[in-house]
Amino acid sequence: MEYLSRTLYKVGEDRCFKFHPRCRSTKLTHLCFADDLILCCKGEFHSIQLLLQGFKLFSDTSGLKANIQKSAVYCAGMKPEVVQQVVDFSGFALGSFPFRYLGVPIYFKRITNADCEGLVDKMMARIKTWSSRNLSFAGRITLINSVLLSIHSYWAQVFILPKHVLKNVEAICRAFLWQGTYFCSKPGYVAWDRVCRPKKEGGLGIRQVQAWNIAALGKYVWAIARKQDTMWVRWVNAIYIKTAGWWNYQPKADSGWYWRKICSVKEKLKGLFSEAELDQMPKYSIQKVYQKLVQQHEKVPWGSAVWNRASIPKTRVICWLMVQGRLQTRERLHKIGVCNTTTCLLCEAKDETHPHLFFDCEYSRRCLQGVEEWLDIPTSKVHYMGLLRWVKWKSQCSKFQKTAIHTAVNATVYNLWRARNDALWNQKVPTPSTTIRCIQRSVIDRLAHIGAKQSSTNDQIWWKSKCTI
Ligand SMILES: [Zn+2]
Repeated sequence: MEYLSRTLYKVGEDRCFKFHPRCRSTKLTHLCFADDLILCCKGEFHSIQLLLQGFKLFSDTSGLKANIQKSAVYCAGMKPEVVQQVVDFSGFALGSFPFRYLGVPIYFKRITNADCEGLVDKMMARIKTWSSRNLSFAGRITLINSVLLSIHSYWAQVFILPKHVLKNVEAICRAFLWQGTYFCSKPGYVAWDRVCRPKKEGGLGIRQVQAWNIAALGKYVWAIARKQDTMWVRWVNAIYIKTAGWWNYQPKADSGWYWRKICSVKEKLKGLFSEAELDQMPKYSIQKVYQKLVQQHEKVPWGSAVWNRASIPKTRVICWLMVQGRLQTRERLHKIGVCNTTTCLLCEAKDETHPHLFFDCEYSRRCLQGVEEWLDIPTSKVHYMGLLRWVKWKSQCSKFQKTAIHTAVNATVYNLWRARNDALWNQKVPTPSTTIRCIQRSVIDRLAHIGAKQSSTNDQIWWKSKCTI
């Protein structure tokens, strides 16, 4: 490739050769990435001819040729007869904007919704494959964060996606989270802006796509502030910024759409960083800038208990919904007119509200007491927050004991919800002692499975006594 650069550099030195007007100051004739090559010059036949002759010389010497099927000529502001002349001479097809490079549309104008169809289609195709697999809620959260949003963040590092497209991306994620499909018109159990908060602030830690898009493009703002030695930074300095200072630079109305968007990202970052702060950042972290961009909320007191890593993922999610009062209890279903009764399915005596179902119901009380006695928790701790407070401040439990208790509490909430659903769908309720045994078994198996460490002899003796049930 160095030989190609040298050959094309010589073409640039030819007095008859004219650079592309926007590449004159940087003497840019070509861009290479892997085995892809973009050649550019002024839109006139003679310069194009010189450039292609330079490339031919390289081809003849190295044996590396352009693939005619995969190559195209892109022209702008040229007379049709000259365009035809270029097409005939090069043997390449005439291409039109936007063209796709590495899967992303490249265009000098605003990217339209239609240009982004590829992104939306790709996400939908993934979901179609997954929706047949009957994934758990916890599995869907992981997939949204890792795969769907990685497709989005790949595009988000290239340009500002149109608002409509971001809304679509969000709608796909929302439908997949709540229903396991790619389309759903029903509202979710928890508002989306809450879902997008970090786990310690009460959400599921799913990214806000718009803020992520800004944070991802902030990398270019940072690169200019750092005066990074790259072709692109040299180019924007030569063409747009010139002698103006970057921080207070305002783009002209006739600047390219893409460039104006980068400048608008800079204005957003100005509210968070000074130019010196950005300049002194040795490495740009999209994650850190994103965290500054999104609104911070108060930490929830139950975050670490609900999401404690030892407990089984599906129990964490039910607990997350329970603690916010968002499970579809009869009381909630009655409110929206889906169910004509509010009576608790377990005791058939009181209304099925969240506090009743999980803590006040005779059935739940017996289950919770059984678990509390098993793990040496005072049986007066009958409410979730009271229990958490006791574990945190009063219990003097070791780290391992706390882990076991949180895992057991999550498992209790999950199993109570399961018993309630058994009553609804199968018309039978397991006895409290069956439910207690089920909780104990799942906690013992889970802690053994993840290899939770008992760091002291006390812990070992304590846990051994708990395992002989
Ligand atoms: Zn009840």
